[in-house]
Amino acid sequence: MARERTRVANGLFTRRTASGDVYEARIKVNGSSLRRKLEATTLDEALVERTRLLSALGASENERPRGLAAALWRRVAFRGDDECWPWMGAITSRGYGHLGIPGSGRVIRAHRAAYEFRHGVIPAGHVIHHVCGSKTCCNPAHLVALTPEQHDGHHTQQVGES
Ligand SMILES: [Zn+2]
Ligand SMILES: [Zn+2]
Repeated sequence: MARERTRVANGLFTRRTASGDVYEARIKVNGSSLRRKLEATTLDEALVERTRLLSALGASENERPRGLAAALWRRVAFRGDDECWPWMGAITSRGYGHLGIPGSGRVIRAHRAAYEFRHGVIPAGHVIHHVCGSKTCCNPAHLVALTPEQHDGHHTQQVGES
């Protein structure tokens, strides 16, 4: 049987699929490794995209259970820097992404975890607001921490989002 996956550079592979070869990155986050299909069609693009992915997913100085970053990002549809990154896993009745914390039996909202991996711990008493208006979005660039008072101000102008 032919090899399905071929290593082309550090953390970068090509994988054979029914519709042709695709680039795939392997990334280690907090000791867990995850694989992500890249949109790239050339090696140059693949290297750039992997680097961008690393910086987007990497920062995790805060104390998080091992494996949480991988559990989060493997269910996020990673798109362009300015685009929404929709959560592809379970959704709460309120419409937010629902992330199980590996090994704990507890769950948190996916976008709150996404916020913390990029921006650091959410200040006490703050809520995380989606500037894009999409509740399932996990792009940290679309997430801001607000006090409940600030948040209410946003939503009196933007009807239809919570
Ligand atoms: Zn968004
Ligand atoms: Zn909001």
